[in-house]
Amino acid sequence: MEPDELKRVLIIDDDPLSLQIAVESLHHMEPSWDIQGFEEPHAALEAAWDLRQCVVITDWIMPGMDGLEISQRLREREEPAGHVYHVIVVTARSAIEDMEKGLESANDFVVKPYDPRELRARIRAGIRQMGRQSRLIADNATLTARAETDPLTGLRNRRAALDLALKEFDRYRRRRHPVSAVMIDIDNFKLVNDTHGHATGDLVLQEVARNLSAGLRPYDTLSRWGGEEFLLLSPHCSFSDALGLAERLRKHLAQSPLQLPEGGTLPVTASFGVASASIVADTLDAVAKSADRALYLAKNRGRNLVAGAIDVPESQTFVTSGTPLEPPN
Ligand code: GH3
Ligand code: MG
Ligand code: MG
Repeated sequence: MEPDELKRVLIIDDDPLSLQIAVESLHHMEPSWDIQGFEEPHAALEAAWDLRQCVVITDWIMPGMDGLEISQRLREREEPAGHVYHVIVVTARSAIEDMEKGLESANDFVVKPYDPRELRARIRAGIRQMGRQSRLIADNATLTARAETDPLTGLRNRRAALDLALKEFDRYRRRRHPVSAVMIDIDNFKLVNDTHGHATGDLVLQEVARNLSAGLRPYDTLSRWGGEEFLLLSPHCSFSDALGLAERLRKHLAQSPLQLPEGGTLPVTASFGVASASIVADTLDAVAKSADRALYLAKNRGRNLVAGAIDVPESQTFVTSGTPLEPPN
């Protein structure tokens, strides 16, 4: 049994009488189907687009836009959008060449005059076909999401971060809008694992991910870069803005100690290394290396600090803000 959202049928015919007959005969046979009739192809296309999944039955010859064009337009747009359409062209043209042409873009072809039961049988087959296709699309989306997500924190994983960053840097090279990268590494994290156990370590990772995410704009993306290291990619964000953003995140994290499950709290801080794409270096690799170098400086100067790198990729690094930690005992 296919779900009801697949049992939707749009019928397009510029002749009002044959449209009415088609809609009514189908409705009579299948009262549970959602059947809509359209005399005007553009309105029908809009409706199909809104539905995302439906059977489209269209007359071939119509003024304005013919059935094959309707079919082609749906075909072109459905795959990138994840929509599914089953297009049946209905026509008085019965030559084999017409059928060949019609089936280049449509899924099915019915010659007039037809027995309404034939049309119904073909619609049913179309609904089953759409069901299979939409399940494949959904499975595919689940697999992609799983492959791109870090299961512990729910953030993008390194692979997805790299994909996104490469696209962002491509855009940067074309448009030259600023793009900044911030490498974030939790301070003395090994000590958390050693003192409180791995499970608490995992909890800290989840909390840090949540805490950092809460301070971001919609177009910033935070990824889990590795172990206890995160990458923040910030398009349209200049170097000085990125330093400001990193400082806000650092402060917010430092002011939000973790509530331990066994009671008590655990202070958690991180160090931040900031670098931006500039005229000198415009590759992800160079900017990520510079951000790493800045992060290294922040660690060396006492942690819980924000450091920036200029002169990418040579990277002169300097600390801009933060409060160094007391060395752990
Ligand atoms: P620093 O301040 O210099 O960054 O010191 P650190 O202790 O944070 O860094 P170090 O690289 O010495 O240790 C990182 C630790 O993170 C070691 C590793 O076992 C732990 N780790 C990596 N991934 C996970 C994880 O998924 N869960 C837990 N609980 N620990 C992890
Ligand atoms: Mg660390
Ligand atoms: Mg580390």
